[in-house]
Amino acid sequence: MTLSPPASPQIPDIQEIVRQVLAELKITSSPQSPAVAPSSPSGFAAHASSGPSMAGRNGIFSSVDEAVLASQEAFEQLERLGLEGRRKAIAHIRRIAIDDSEELGRMEFAETKIGRLEHKIEKLKVLGERSPGVEFLSSEVFSGDHGLAVIEHAPFGVIGAITPVTHSLPTITGNAVSMIAGGNTVVVNPHPSGKNVATEGVRRMNRAIYRDIGIDNLIALIAEPTLETAASLFGHRGVKLICVTGGPAVAKAAMQSSKRAIVAGPGNPPVVVDETADLDRAARAIIYGAAYDNNLLCIAEKQVFVVASVFDSMMAAMERAGALRLSAHQVDTLTNRAIVMVGEGAHRHPAPCKELLGQDAAVLAQVAGATPREGLELVFGETDNSNPFVPTEQMMPFLPFVRCKDADEAIRLAYESEHGFRHTAIIHSHNVRNMTKMGRLLDTTLFVKNGASVAGLGLGGEGYLSFSIATPTGEGVTTPLTFTRQRRCTLVDDLRILGSPD
Ligand code: NAD
Repeated sequence: MTLSPPASPQIPDIQEIVRQVLAELKITSSPQSPAVAPSSPSGFAAHASSGPSMAGRNGIFSSVDEAVLASQEAFEQLERLGLEGRRKAIAHIRRIAIDDSEELGRMEFAETKIGRLEHKIEKLKVLGERSPGVEFLSSEVFSGDHGLAVIEHAPFGVIGAITPVTHSLPTITGNAVSMIAGGNTVVVNPHPSGKNVATEGVRRMNRAIYRDIGIDNLIALIAEPTLETAASLFGHRGVKLICVTGGPAVAKAAMQSSKRAIVAGPGNPPVVVDETADLDRAARAIIYGAAYDNNLLCIAEKQVFVVASVFDSMMAAMERAGALRLSAHQVDTLTNRAIVMVGEGAHRHPAPCKELLGQDAAVLAQVAGATPREGLELVFGETDNSNPFVPTEQMMPFLPFVRCKDADEAIRLAYESEHGFRHTAIIHSHNVRNMTKMGRLLDTTLFVKNGASVAGLGLGGEGYLSFSIATPTGEGVTTPLTFTRQRRCTLVDDLRILGSPD
């Protein structure tokens, strides 16, 4: 049998096809072209305005196909502007996150109806100030007898991102800074319950970037997100990488996708308090972390295991620090209202009741039958290990405290309650062996000692900040480098200035 070459295919005129598609979409010209031509010394405007354009949408799209097409166009434009273009774009995202934090934070709070207003504002501000940018990019060099090899970190292209309701615009802000710093563009399928603030934030960011450097749609957003649009983003040929931030269902869907996925999945962070801890300091830290934004953070303290010899003192320390202790009866009343069973058969499990999710401590106290004082941030109470608050990621400011025989038991129960998510764990102790034992067993991405959970993101601790902490896929607290691919450039025998002259 002979193999004859296939008949040469009719090569379509790609530009013609693009022109036809754009004509059909009626988007051949920009409805909101920048009022002033970009005034960059490096000629940004000239680059950005060449070719067919989706500019003028300010990143807001009704279809995944359109959004990906626009994002690809923006990616190609960004590539031509080098690191300086990325820096400029990121500077606008940061400025808007900071300057408009009050207005956008209010919007997010009004739309999602969960968490605390002051923290909605603060989260945006802090992401604007502290999420890692272009400065995080580095190159590695191998230099030897055979010359040089340089490893550089290149963009993937268009990234598809899924964001949670717990921090709608903050997650988009942090993702956009890191992804654009890495040279990528992003199409976001936001949580439907936080889509309006996502739309407004993205519109403002794109508009400012477009006015300055002439590139629109660096951040594209699906205005009416559904599970179908999420699936179509996962499967789109133009999307080179997926980044998912959310709970178990979406984390599982991303892990099963055929694309490379960076998965910032759920957590259920346990706290251990042993007999060597500074109890007042531990109480203040636990309240700060667990009450932040009404316990919506994935890293927030969710259940506490205290060794018996200091259990009563720890409960007293919590009260001194301002938390409200519920009686056994009040804990039962709250549990029955706050935790519901979902799923069928083997999948049946406790979950937070949507009505109470992210609500104020005062609301939880009232539901439990207690009287809250003004400014109450957290309610807590003693439970046994089988209380459904222990295995559930409650995302509301009530913490169950479990009395444990000793540190070994506390660490074991902490391990079981974390479900192997390997997300976040916290210990209050001055016993290095207990710290080490817990760190090794739980094997979490963040492990905080003697501080509030947020210290693990550099807030009151060292390090940098991101609201996408990649847990099952292992990238950790995401940075621009997370969204890059390694490329190696090798030069044989030359350029290395060390060595003997020939
Ligand atoms: P969620 O899982 O309900 O929703 C997240 C997003 O995924 C939404 O946009 C939703 O529409 C989408 N989604 C849900 N199921 C999907 C599926 N099968 N296919 C495609 N998309 C799907 O989560 P949430 O309530 O918005 O956020 C809270 C959860 O997110 C918590 O579990 C929390 O721990 C986790 N979280 C993790 C991190 C992290 O960095 N690891 C950060 C924030 C939140």
